[in-house]
Amino acid sequence: MTKYVTFSRNVFVPVTNVCRNKCGYCTFRREPNEPGSCFMSPQEILPILREGKKVGCTEVLFTFGEYAEEIPQYKQWLGEREYNSNVEYVIDLCKLAVKIGLLPHTNAGVLNYMELEALKPWNASMGLMLETTGTVAAHSNCPGKIPQLRIKTIRYAGELQIPFTTGILVGIGETLDDRIDSLQCIANLHEEYGHIQEVIIQNFMPKTGTPMEKHPSPTLEEMIQIVSIAREILPSDIAIQVAPNLIDPYLLIKYGATDLGGISPSTIDWINPEAEWPTVEKLQEMLRDIPLRERLPIYPQYIKKGWYNQNLNSLIKSMADGEGYRKIS
Ligand code: SF4
Repeated sequence: MTKYVTFSRNVFVPVTNVCRNKCGYCTFRREPNEPGSCFMSPQEILPILREGKKVGCTEVLFTFGEYAEEIPQYKQWLGEREYNSNVEYVIDLCKLAVKIGLLPHTNAGVLNYMELEALKPWNASMGLMLETTGTVAAHSNCPGKIPQLRIKTIRYAGELQIPFTTGILVGIGETLDDRIDSLQCIANLHEEYGHIQEVIIQNFMPKTGTPMEKHPSPTLEEMIQIVSIAREILPSDIAIQVAPNLIDPYLLIKYGATDLGGISPSTIDWINPEAEWPTVEKLQEMLRDIPLRERLPIYPQYIKKGWYNQNLNSLIKSMADGEGYRKIS
């Protein structure tokens, strides 16, 4: 079993929740004029970043609905601010975060090579859930959930040497074979490029008001099974992450999970707003005798390999200890 379990301290910024997909389990997505839809301006984001820095976070997670600029209202909103694309806007947000002292981790859905290349200099790591290589009804209205498209993005990230987070969503109608195939696909990409730092094994949670509200979550036994299989399939330098606000991690750690992802002392989980983040103290209680260790959004092995741009150099140096974990001040 792992010597310690890692986590990072982040702020979660949902830049926009308009999205071209309509996943059967999602409560994050909004139509542009629906109550709760958001296009967050730098003026709104700035205080969130400042607060995160103040309470000791190292990371900002920027999330979006996928290819939000395909939604005319968001495209127009960007245009009014003289941005030709979402990527241009995200780069400015990343620069703002770095200035404040947070390392950006952008998850903007499927992206092409040039978009990833443009974002790399301002991101410590990036992410895209593969979710599943299977064909599931939950994704039937989702042009961006075609597995080959997502695999292509993960591959481009490998070609560009971007430390990358991906994962599978367990219990959305996929079979055990699909789960195994998805993990094998991630393992193969990592064998080729060496860029996958962590794989999230996320349990589906039904949400009221969605087409899948009556669909059951995977059982703890199913989660133990797939975490164990993941540990067998994935190379040992890939961390296996489970979400401590969605499932009790203790047993899953016994079976191979090694990371608890980003937890936030100052923002909610906008994708699962009903699931509160545990505090660090609560996390340690959940882990009983297994020690916790804080990391940055870029894993130690990629700091050692220098897989980040000079733009982030002084920030990473100031935050990382000799082994590449969070420096204890
Ligand atoms: S889960 Fe993500 S990709 Fe799917 S509809 Fe919601 S915001 Fe869009």
